[in-house]
Amino acid sequence: MPYCPHCRQEYLEAIDQCPECGRLLLPKKPVWRPYDPEEPLSVVRTVYNEPLAYLLKGQLEQEGIPVHVQFEAAGRVYGLTVDGLGANRLMVPESLAAEAEEILQAFEEDGAEVFEELEPDADTRL
Ligand SMILES: [Zn+2]
Repeated sequence: MPYCPHCRQEYLEAIDQCPECGRLLLPKKPVWRPYDPEEPLSVVRTVYNEPLAYLLKGQLEQEGIPVHVQFEAAGRVYGLTVDGLGANRLMVPESLAAEAEEILQAFEEDGAEVFEELEPDADTRL
């Protein structure tokens, strides 16, 4: 059943967006991988496009890797105020970072055209 990784709630088939928070649902409830909640987070990607950040987050969550997205507004970096522009840092527990990297690389190879559409010029890597 479709599952919202934010609300941690399952929904009926045929729904693809969470009625509570509006996020895209995962096709099924992931089996979360074990990790220590105390361990430090490691940044696996920095992307400058919010939809892309949430797409990648969904890919990792589908594989059971919890992702924290930290948004840093461009205003704080450059002293400008630009709505919606800034760095989205995808962070995962350190012990799962290597696995997350493999999943992201596989997805990036498969989804090259998705990347071009979402982020024509920017470099998605650190
Ligand atoms: Zn939700």
